[in-house]
Amino acid sequence: MEMHPATLEQITALIARVKAHSPFYANKLMGIQPGDITSQHEFEQLPFTTKEDLRNAYPLGLSAVPNEDIVRIHSSSGTTGTPVIIPYTARDVQDWSVMFARCYEMAGITRHDRIHVTPGYGLWTAGIGFQLGAELLGAMAIPMGPGNTDRQLQLMMDLGSTVLGATSSYALLLAETIAARGIRDKIKLRKGVIGSERWGERMRARIADELGVELHDIYGLTEVYGPGIGINCEAQEAMHVWDDYCYFEIIDPDTGATVPDGTSGELVITTLRKEGAPLIRYRTHDLTRFVAGACPCGSPFPRIETLIGRSDDMVKVKGINLFPAHIEEALAETQGASSEYQVMIDHLNGKDIMTVFFETEAAEDERQRIERELHRVIKAKLSLSVVPKAVLIGDLPRSEKKSKRFFDNRY
Ligand code: ZN
Repeated sequence: MEMHPATLEQITALIARVKAHSPFYANKLMGIQPGDITSQHEFEQLPFTTKEDLRNAYPLGLSAVPNEDIVRIHSSSGTTGTPVIIPYTARDVQDWSVMFARCYEMAGITRHDRIHVTPGYGLWTAGIGFQLGAELLGAMAIPMGPGNTDRQLQLMMDLGSTVLGATSSYALLLAETIAARGIRDKIKLRKGVIGSERWGERMRARIADELGVELHDIYGLTEVYGPGIGINCEAQEAMHVWDDYCYFEIIDPDTGATVPDGTSGELVITTLRKEGAPLIRYRTHDLTRFVAGACPCGSPFPRIETLIGRSDDMVKVKGINLFPAHIEEALAETQGASSEYQVMIDHLNGKDIMTVFFETEAAEDERQRIERELHRVIKAKLSLSVVPKAVLIGDLPRSEKKSKRFFDNRY
């Protein structure tokens, strides 16, 4: 996507600012002067910032302002090793709430809405982001946080919550509980704002149907403010992102080169206004692509596709970049296949062999037909021949955390 001349000016100013005030970037950009970056091409030669860099800067090494200007910190979940601490100035907090309120507006949410906030509060950015945006919009925030489903549903009914803010898995749990208790007619929800993670079409359809709501994917990550830097509009297909606050690039996760518009790759973000912890070319590991053309909703903000996975999940088979989303889409199109699957990739007699195990309720004599159908669908989508293997429902392992579904036995 072509860089706007105003963005280039912001980037020049950003480089000057971080070189002067951020020891982290003074070191990373050593030898580069703000005036050196005069084009998009030159900008694209700057080094990336990685999660590893952020971990190494623990606790406050990322800060680009005097300590007394930091009004808050957040932290990204440290599932592996050292967490990342992100400092915010008062203006960063304000900018984040402006972006989040804009997300609500794009989703058709107004000050007349009552927003039921179920993501967690605390070091995590989710709950407080939903809250900040709601308050700036002038809507009523109901700061529930996660858990205690009974109380959630009671307040949802008593207060007449109209918007649910949630992760996809918690939205599904609430939807199922509401259906099981037969209280759907007492629930006034009309919209769901769901924290971006990649989630299948089937799950989306179940949540939307069972809750009777229109769903919106909200995008963001703690390292870059938190949720609220993009959301899909009422035209639904893709997420608009706020390019007046952040500059977005999509790169080939293997080579680091920017890819042509419309090609899938890893989203890279540069913060244009952030003071506490500005980031230059931060690798998100989220996979998406730019969606070209004007959106039917009329918004001028650029669009990215709903996330298709994480670049860490990508595997290359017979020269084709493959993501879990590809297999999930193929299974959704295959009649009789359930959404649980596991992929084994082996190298035998000089060839890559990819076996797709999937669960089905179908009787023995039906399974071959389903296997052939899955083979056909994947071949048509990806030009890839796989070995489909139907197994019974419950045969594949389940886990609380995201199950690992790809097993690469080639190396
Ligand atoms: Zn739109």
